[in-house]
Amino acid sequence: MDLDSSVGEIPLVGPVYQKRLEKLKIRSIRDLLYHIPIRYNDFSQMAKISHCRVGETLTLRGSLNSLKNQYTKSGKKIQIAEVEDSTGKITIVWFNQPFLTRTLYPGTDLSLSGKIDWFGTKKAMVSPEYEITRLGAETVHTGKIVPVYPETYGVSSKWLRTKIKLAYLTCGEEIKEYLPETYGFITLPEAIMSIHFPNTLKDAEVARRRLAFDELYFLQSQSLKRKHAWQKNWAAYQLTINKLAIDKFKNSLPFTLTKSQDLAVNEILVDLKRSFPMNRLLEGDVGSGKTVVAATAAFAAFVNGYQTVIMAPTQILAQQHFNTLKQLFSKVSNSVKIKLVTSATSIEQSKSFDIFVGTHALIHQKLNLDKVALVVIDEQHKFGVEQREHLIKKSGQGRIAPHILTMTATPIPRTVALTFYGDLDLSTLTEIPAGRQRITTWVVPPEKREGAYGWIDSQITDHDSQVFVVCPLIEESKKETMKDVKAVTAEYKKLTRLFGKLKVGLLHGRLKAEEKTKVIKRFRNRDISLLVTTPVVEVGIDIPNATIMVVEAAERFGLAQLHQLRGRVGRGLSKSYCLLFTESPSEKALKRLNAMRQNLSGFELAELDLTLRGPGEIFGLRQHGIPDLKIASWRDIDLIKKAKEVVKLRYDTVT
Ligand code: ADP
Ligand code: MG
Repeated sequence: MDLDSSVGEIPLVGPVYQKRLEKLKIRSIRDLLYHIPIRYNDFSQMAKISHCRVGETLTLRGSLNSLKNQYTKSGKKIQIAEVEDSTGKITIVWFNQPFLTRTLYPGTDLSLSGKIDWFGTKKAMVSPEYEITRLGAETVHTGKIVPVYPETYGVSSKWLRTKIKLAYLTCGEEIKEYLPETYGFITLPEAIMSIHFPNTLKDAEVARRRLAFDELYFLQSQSLKRKHAWQKNWAAYQLTINKLAIDKFKNSLPFTLTKSQDLAVNEILVDLKRSFPMNRLLEGDVGSGKTVVAATAAFAAFVNGYQTVIMAPTQILAQQHFNTLKQLFSKVSNSVKIKLVTSATSIEQSKSFDIFVGTHALIHQKLNLDKVALVVIDEQHKFGVEQREHLIKKSGQGRIAPHILTMTATPIPRTVALTFYGDLDLSTLTEIPAGRQRITTWVVPPEKREGAYGWIDSQITDHDSQVFVVCPLIEESKKETMKDVKAVTAEYKKLTRLFGKLKVGLLHGRLKAEEKTKVIKRFRNRDISLLVTTPVVEVGIDIPNATIMVVEAAERFGLAQLHQLRGRVGRGLSKSYCLLFTESPSEKALKRLNAMRQNLSGFELAELDLTLRGPGEIFGLRQHGIPDLKIASWRDIDLIKKAKEVVKLRYDTVT
C-alpha cells in the first residue's frame, strides 16, 4: 500500500465503502490523507468523576458498571449507563443507540468525552463519544483534540478517524516536503500529521495555514505556467498605436469616456504593441460601458489594417453589438466594414470585412479570417473553454495568435481573479457612466404585497411604466422544467385577473424561438405593460423603457442573480425601481435582501457575498469555472498574497 493505492486496499474497506467514499472524492490513500477536518472537538481536558461540573466538556476514564435500554414516554429508546472511577460514579446517557448493549459490557474500561449536563436531577454525561481503552493503546476518539470530518451517508467522522490513522501509520512517511524552504510555515509532513492529530487547536490552525497555502500556491503556479507558455509559444501582430487616430475616435463618441474606461483602453493599447499576444480580462458591472472599450481596441486594429472578431453568447447580444459598432464607427470613418455572422453566412459573403460579430456561429462558419489581430469574447463565462480555444485557434495564423480581450460583468473579487486568473491581466471598470439615476430597491413582506400591486398599477396607468415580474425556478437546476412553466403560467393568470385592464405577457424558456421574439418585441413596443417571466431575462434582454423589476420569492436568489436581474432596469434615463417580494426569508437571505436595498455596486455586493457566505457558491463564480477552495478561503488575502510571492520567487529561480 502506498499513497497512490486505492482506498480499497485498507482492511475492511470494500466496494460499498469505496462507493460511499467516492462521494467525498476520496479514491486513493493520498485523497484520504488530504481529507481535511472541518472542525475539532476539544476533548483534551481530563477529569476525575467527582470533580466534573455541569456545563464542562471533558474526558472521563472509568469502568462500566451497568448499561440498559429504557423507553421514553414518546417511545424512543435511550441508553443509561453507570461508570465508576477511583473518585466516584456518574450516569452516562445516549439516545437511540440500542446496539450499545451488545458492544459494551459491565467491567469494560471506557474513555468518554462529552458535556456534563443535568439528566433529571442527576449529573450525567450526555451523548458522549466513547471508546474502549486498552492498556498501552492510544485513544482516537476521546481524550484529545478530535477532528470532525466532512461526512457522507454511511461514513462517519468516527469511521474516518480510524481509517485515516491507519493510512497515516502505513504511508504517512511517503509525504515529502517539496519546497526548498518553508517560508515561515511548518513542513508539509508536519502539517499532514497535525491536521489529523493535533496536540492543540493552535497546532491544527498552523497546519491548516500550511495546507491552505499549498492549495493557493498550486492554483497560482498553474496559472503562471499558463501565462508563460502563452507568451513564449505564440507571437502576435505588433500594432502601431496612432494616437491621433485613437483620439479622433474618442472625440467622435457621443460621450466622454469614464476615467476607468480610459485607463482600460490605455492598458489594452500598450498590450497591442507587444510582440506576444495580449490575454486580458476586462471586468465591469452591468452597464459600465465595456463595449466601447472593445470598440476602441478594434478601431486600433482596423487602423493597422487588421481584423477583429467579436463573439457574444446570444443572437440578441450579437445583433446589439453589430448595431452599436456600426453607429460608433460611422462617425469616424465610413470604411470600417462590419459583418454580422449567422449560421447562414457563407465564406463568399465574409470577404473583405474588418470586424466580424456573431455568436458561436463564428466558430462553425467558414470565414475569411486571414489577418485577425484581436479576438473579443463578451460575457466570457457563457462559453466553454473549448469554444474559446476554438475561436482563438481559428483566428490565428501559424505561430501568430490574436490578442485576446475577454469581458465579463461578474464582479470577480480581485483576490480571486488574481489567484485563479493569474494568467490573465486584469482591467476593471469601477464606475458607471454619469447621468444615470439610482435604482430604488424595496424589500416587500407579505403584508405589503397588496399595497405594492396598487402602486404598480398606478405607475403603469399614470406613468406608462413597464414591469418585469420574475418568478424563481422551483428546483435547483439550470434548465426550466415543466413545473416551472406551470408556476410561471399560474402567476401570469393571477396577474391577468388582478390587473384586468392592463396588458400582461408571459415569457419562459420553453416557448418556441419565434414566440419568444414576438413577446419581447411586443414588450419593447410597449404593447405589453407587465411581463411575467422566469429568470430567462437575466441574460441579454435589454429594454430601456422597462423601469420596474419585481422579483418573486427573492430569498431564493443569490446576490449575483438579484444584481443581474435588477440590472435589467435603470438602463434608460427614467427613475427605476426594484421590488423584492419575500415570504419568510432566513436570516442569511434577509441580509442579502438588505444588501440589495442599500443598492450597492456589483463589486461591493461581491465582496459582501464573500463575507456572507462561506467559500461556497460565491457571487456566481462557479459559472466562471472558479472552483470552491477546499482548505483555503478566498477571504484569506494575506495567504493569497504570500502564495503569489512564493510562486514568483520560485518561478524566477527556475526559469
Ligand atoms: P456593458 O459594460 O454592460 O457591456 P455597454 O457597453 O452595453 O455596457 O454600455 C451601456 C450603455 O452605456 C450603452 O448605451 C453605452 O452607449 C453607454 N455608455 C458607455 N460608456 C459611456 C460613457 N462614458 N458615458 C455615457 N454613456 C456611456
Ligand atoms: Mg455588455
